[in-house]
Amino acid sequence: MTTIAFIGLGNMGNPMAANLVKSGYDVLGFDLVDDNLKTAGANGVKVVGDAASAVASADVVVTMLPAGKHVVSVYNDVVAKAKPGTLFIDSSTIDVDSARQAHAIAAENNMLSVDAPVSGGTVGAQAGTLTFMAGGAKDAFDKAEPILERMGKRSVHCGDSGAGQAAKICNNMILGVSMIAAAEAFVLGEKLGLSHQALFDVASTSSGQCWAITTNCPVPGPVPTSPANRDYKPGFAAALMLKDLKLAQEAAGSSGAQTPLGAQAAELFSRFEALGHGGEDFSGIINFLRDDAAK
Ligand code: NAD
Repeated sequence: MTTIAFIGLGNMGNPMAANLVKSGYDVLGFDLVDDNLKTAGANGVKVVGDAASAVASADVVVTMLPAGKHVVSVYNDVVAKAKPGTLFIDSSTIDVDSARQAHAIAAENNMLSVDAPVSGGTVGAQAGTLTFMAGGAKDAFDKAEPILERMGKRSVHCGDSGAGQAAKICNNMILGVSMIAAAEAFVLGEKLGLSHQALFDVASTSSGQCWAITTNCPVPGPVPTSPANRDYKPGFAAALMLKDLKLAQEAAGSSGAQTPLGAQAAELFSRFEALGHGGEDFSGIINFLRDDAAK
């Protein structure tokens, strides 16, 4: 039986590990937080006392950690302790440079590695419907795909090391910018006496059409399942959108790409978060844009 070590059993990691258990894998889990270990144990994960013990007997290691520094630090601690040829899958959302560093640590120790960040949030993690965007060698991706399929519904091989992280931050930069554009349009429409429904009916079927309007519409009414109808309870929290926009800005800086709208979106979400709205769905930015605070 394939043994999987799962390191990082937080909001995303725990339900992902639980889906691997349900699929019949032997899953060894480690996290720094006791409550997360208790949840993992209740889900059938075999909890171990440290990351190195989880990795030693594993065929595959999945990490789901907060940021690049955590991933590089865990890789530095555990990769050399794994069996040669072990597959390392990092599904955290991290900066491209750290992702490439993690791949390099794996390669130096004769391991296979894939960066495979996800889209779909905690709801997708629970339902096993995540989308994975992966970077790494083709043979590593081919080996990872059947495991990713147990935690998600789709995985796309985007290219070599770091390509999954690159795709994730580019996609989320589009999302952050388009949500602000959609929210600004509804605010302008309000000032011009246009009903939300009228603007939705036009924009959702015209050239302004985008996910921020058709699925996550920032005003209550037109899309009953959008977070605007439940007082902007996430959904996708503004703090996580800000994290991804900052990663995109870091990558733009280091690669020399011009992303003026991405920079502006990061700035607006940063001000929105500073006012205490980081826990709201990111479509709540519309309330900030209506307000004098946005001036
Ligand atoms: P989280 O904070 O709930 O979980 C991270 C876990 O990592 C925590 O339980 C923490 O204790 C653990 N951890 C940190 N350092 C560790 C170490 N050295 N060893 C073992 N465990 C360690 O975060 P999350 O919401 O599960 O997100 C995880 C990653 O997924 C992040 O990179 C995030 O950006 C990304 N992501 C989150 C969502 C979401 O909706 N929550 C969606 C897409 C992507």
